[in-house]
Amino acid sequence: VPLVVTHFLDRAVSLYGDKTGVICDGKEITYKQLYERANQLSHGLKDLGVTKGDRVAYLAPNTLEMLEGFYGIFQLGAVMVPLNIRLKPDDYLFILNHSESKVLFVDQELYHLIVPIKNQLQTVETIIVHYKDEDTNEIAYDEWLAQYPTTAFERPDIDENDICSLLYTSGTTGKPKGVMLTHRNNYLHALVAMHHLRVSDRDNYLHVLPMFHVNGWGAPFYYTANGATQICLRKAVPEWIFNCIEKYKVSVMHMAPTVLNLLLQYYEQYKPSISHPVRVVIAGSAPPPAFVTRVEKELGWEFIQVYGMTESSPLSTVSTIRSHLGDLPLHEQYRMKAKAGHAMIGCEVKVVNEQGEEVPHDGKTIGELIVRSNGVMKGYWKNPEATMETIRNGWLYTGDMATVDQYGNIDIVDRKKDIIISGGENISSIEVEGVLYDHPAVLEAAVIAVPHKKWGETPHAFVVTRPGHHVTEQELIAFSREKLAHFKAITGVTFVDELPKTASGKIQKVHLRKEYWNTLG
Ligand code: ATP
Ligand code: MG
Repeated sequence: VPLVVTHFLDRAVSLYGDKTGVICDGKEITYKQLYERANQLSHGLKDLGVTKGDRVAYLAPNTLEMLEGFYGIFQLGAVMVPLNIRLKPDDYLFILNHSESKVLFVDQELYHLIVPIKNQLQTVETIIVHYKDEDTNEIAYDEWLAQYPTTAFERPDIDENDICSLLYTSGTTGKPKGVMLTHRNNYLHALVAMHHLRVSDRDNYLHVLPMFHVNGWGAPFYYTANGATQICLRKAVPEWIFNCIEKYKVSVMHMAPTVLNLLLQYYEQYKPSISHPVRVVIAGSAPPPAFVTRVEKELGWEFIQVYGMTESSPLSTVSTIRSHLGDLPLHEQYRMKAKAGHAMIGCEVKVVNEQGEEVPHDGKTIGELIVRSNGVMKGYWKNPEATMETIRNGWLYTGDMATVDQYGNIDIVDRKKDIIISGGENISSIEVEGVLYDHPAVLEAAVIAVPHKKWGETPHAFVVTRPGHHVTEQELIAFSREKLAHFKAITGVTFVDELPKTASGKIQKVHLRKEYWNTLG
């Protein structure tokens, strides 16, 4: 049987056809209706001349339309190119032309971002807008969809090694790269993830993480396959999240640490009622240890940390789950969960030195994390050099530095590009940030390397303070010296109103480095 992701919707229809599949903007539809709408979409796209292998771009927050877009596009053997909603018109111009997309779906809220670049689009032939208003001359989604039959779409032969999606990386470290994931990549990643996250038909999954980003992207596969109800949230606003949790008895959510931070803040301030506890919250992207403790202790929800990247569909490791931790004291349990954890089933992970040799499993020797799994991409789109540099002998070189302990627990130290080298010692910016988050006045913190005459580099923090709190640079330096080896302590602080972030909520240290130099004048 070819491992093609359309199978996931077929399964949901045959087993859970009459169950509420998706809830969005107050609308509820069953899995059968989702399937019918996806069929309409496939018929419509075919009519527009889209065939197997063509790229179809999608610019939308988490919506029902985007979910039907998934399966409507895949049934045709076409390739979905989800676009990050927080980019600038020029970025869209780059991605749409670079991916050579033929059709663009765009949510009306975001249409204005396309207007300035419309005349420069080289390959886009059709733009379809959800909920058209009078101002746009494009095709209106609902009217367009309604013309087509809901009957089964005759699918072309799709090979599991055919490309299913072209996802652009977050652009945390530079220009986003187009990652080619095949049906097989997405399919096997979903099987592994649904096992580790214990996904079932009893789950009510809240789409907090944007679907256009790789973590949010993978979720519709495994929640659909298991007939879970999926609730779409357009924006990650804490109040809305808590409302949804209460209204729809949400059982599971994935989110970026920055959003989790807002959620915890909101909870501590307003204490919203939660009559139905969330089963688990999942986060990657280096969640500070303090967040793990707060989720588990204050909210009483289980926290699972995962590690992944776009290039591996994304997940490769998962932190230890509660039932495996047995009778360990709570603080030990939290410490374990603050690590990226073990290789997932079917994934091999190694931490290697510059010679490519595995470092000792001592929990302290740092090397680069490399990954081999069924989720590893086919390559970067139109960039064979970068592909060859990143995938060597079948291993994906992640660019992330890590340690591994005697139990095989991976701890991400830092991105290679973010590590601070001070007097010949490696300092993890993530570790230093983790300490700053323990300070009551710190709302957000990001640490970067800045040049130092004597030490080469030292850690410098960018800090957003909590409303109503005050702290000085000297106090924070002293706090970090108290909690960390002195060579790891910060040597300066820049207070800011907000930190630059990607749409998935990652702090863009590249911009902070620039800002630091600007502050110096
Ligand atoms: P770009 O490659 O364009 O610079 P990006 O690397 O942020 O952007 P993604 O693929 O979205 O794009 O993110 C993957 C990266 O996120 C990983 O390489 C790693 O640096 C970071 N990351 C993910 N999970 C974790 C985790 N649990 N702990 C620490 N870092 C993590
Ligand atoms: Mg990356």
